[in-house]
Amino acid sequence: MSTYDVIVIGAGPAGLSAALMLGRSRRRVLVCDSGHPRNAASHALHGYLTRDGIPPREFLRIAREQLAEYDCVEVRDVEVTEAACDSGGRFHVTLATGERADARKLLIATGVVDNVPTIPGFAELYGRSVFHCPYCDGWEVRDRPLAVYGRGARGYGLSLELTGWSRDLVLCTDGPSEIEPDHLARLARHDIQVREERVVRLEGRDGVLEHIVFDAGEPLPRRALFFTTGQVQRSELAVHLGCEFNEKGTVRTGKYESTHLPGLYVAGDASRAVQWVVVAAAEGAEAAFAINTDLLAEDLG
Ligand SMILES: Cc1cc2nc3c(=O)[nH]c(=O)nc-3n(C[C@H](O)[C@H](O)[C@H](O)COP(=O)(O)OP(=O)(O)OC[C@H]3O[C@@H](n4cnc5c(N)ncnc54)[C@H](O)[C@@H]3O)c2cc1C
Repeated sequence: MSTYDVIVIGAGPAGLSAALMLGRSRRRVLVCDSGHPRNAASHALHGYLTRDGIPPREFLRIAREQLAEYDCVEVRDVEVTEAACDSGGRFHVTLATGERADARKLLIATGVVDNVPTIPGFAELYGRSVFHCPYCDGWEVRDRPLAVYGRGARGYGLSLELTGWSRDLVLCTDGPSEIEPDHLARLARHDIQVREERVVRLEGRDGVLEHIVFDAGEPLPRRALFFTTGQVQRSELAVHLGCEFNEKGTVRTGKYESTHLPGLYVAGDASRAVQWVVVAAAEGAEAAFAINTDLLAEDLG
């Protein structure tokens, strides 16, 4: 059994940012990562000051390279399969290798997974011309013919949001729209067409969307598609530790990403509504500050 000040689960922007601050605070840290970052399909990370457009893998590579300077931080490419807190407030984790480790504090930064529709063409074009976040990928397709994929309040909301990037919008609901009549009228006032036919496939070439094909009616020429079909936690660890969740399925956190359990923190996409790399990194740093402050207080008595 190895013993640490802090175990960080997840080496995305949130976990690595926390590990950097904890390393600089001379804490003994174990970081574990299972190798499935949320934005794996993306080719360019946007909106991170000084890093706009960097390939996401390169961003993580630089982060790990800089972290390697801090010899008190150990980064391992291994999944954490279990995490528990004992009656003394100490955290115990089990790795996929069967090894065990324990720590005084635990940070979960395990991210989320997007529900990507299983319609042919979606996965192939995901991250190239199929996206979910206009702030991340809207600029590159501004003023182009865009589609929105989603139903009900979600599809309605994303359609209105996208008007900031293009006025040539068609909402594809892939079945009954489930949108209230006054909301449909509002979409119509903004020239947003709604198509309720079933989506059969997306057609594109070299990663660029060309047509959306329906089970009836003409194919729809489009340059990009933004979808909103929800997400789930990448890991069940926060559930098993009894964390509270909000209506979006992310962990409800308090000040500095604290949770209901003293010593347990949840940062990054796993815990918040605004899910950007810059926010995840900031949350990781905040959690590190709170963790180090707690550890200092405990050590100094
Ligand atoms: C297609 C796409 C494009 C995007 N583009 C942008 C953009 O341009 N700009 C932007 O700001 N944001 C973008 N995002 C959002 C961005 O990816 C997230 O906000 C960011 O990755 C969140 O960081 P995180 O550290 O919370 O989670 P993640 O980056 O998802 O990292 C979590 C890590 O935890 C690991 N993990 C999970 N469970 C375990 C476990 N049990 N044990 C060990 N490790 C575990 C995972 O393998 C993963 O590596 C995009 C997202 C997608 C899907």
